Amino acid sequence: MIFIKTEPELELIRRSGEVLRDAFLEIEKVLRPGVTTAELDRVAEDFIRSRGGKPAFKGYHGFPASICASINEQVVHGIPGPRELKEGDIVGIDMGVVKEEFYSDATRTYPVGEISEEVRRLLRVTREALDLGIDKARAGNHLSDISHEVQKHAESHGYSVVRALVGHGIGRQMHEEPQIPNFGPPGKGPVLRAGMTLAIEPMINVGGSEVLTLKDKWTFVTVDGKLSCHFEDTVAVTEDEPLIMTR
Ligand code: MG
Repeated sequence: MIFIKTEPELELIRRSGEVLRDAFLEIEKVLRPGVTTAELDRVAEDFIRSRGGKPAFKGYHGFPASICASINEQVVHGIPGPRELKEGDIVGIDMGVVKEEFYSDATRTYPVGEISEEVRRLLRVTREALDLGIDKARAGNHLSDISHEVQKHAESHGYSVVRALVGHGIGRQMHEEPQIPNFGPPGKGPVLRAGMTLAIEPMINVGGSEVLTLKDKWTFVTVDGKLSCHFEDTVAVTEDEPLIMTR
């Protein structure tokens, strides 16, 4: 079932999302060529705890870190470690916070140093797809209006959307109903209502949409080895404009 959040519950999600938003600012201070993803993980965990939150991913189904750091052809769920970021890489940082029993979840994909115009375009289009999807998170719309908007935008730029992974409801649990695919026809699925909270997260590939998991059992990569990009925000449906809890 899809949980409708009360005003006080929405306020708690907003407060959780505020810590998460600020954690990205801390990551941005240290993200440069030469930094390891383990260092980014440490910065994020220390910060989240300093603000009274807990890193929601740590220990989640046994995940060993506070952030997912997915580089280049890695789509999601990359495990932080000794790998150094290098000039021209892109890195998707996916983080979750739980605070006062409520979760927030967001992802930013960052350029490392200078990246090519072509790669900048991928980042821009993915961010736009997220914004366009969010704009459909309005009471009275159907869930798949979000999905359709993301797919339409990505494909109109020659990219493909990952189909094996989806966004999700969020609240007292990190993953609640409904699942939110990044593709599909509009006008399907549940009707959105004020008080629903959704983690909308387009994952967009330069090449084909197929992904597979590495031997570490976590890291998803593109099958064709081409770049993938991921942005995500936690959003509340209201009677009015969508409320982005993680910006
Ligand atoms: Mg998520």
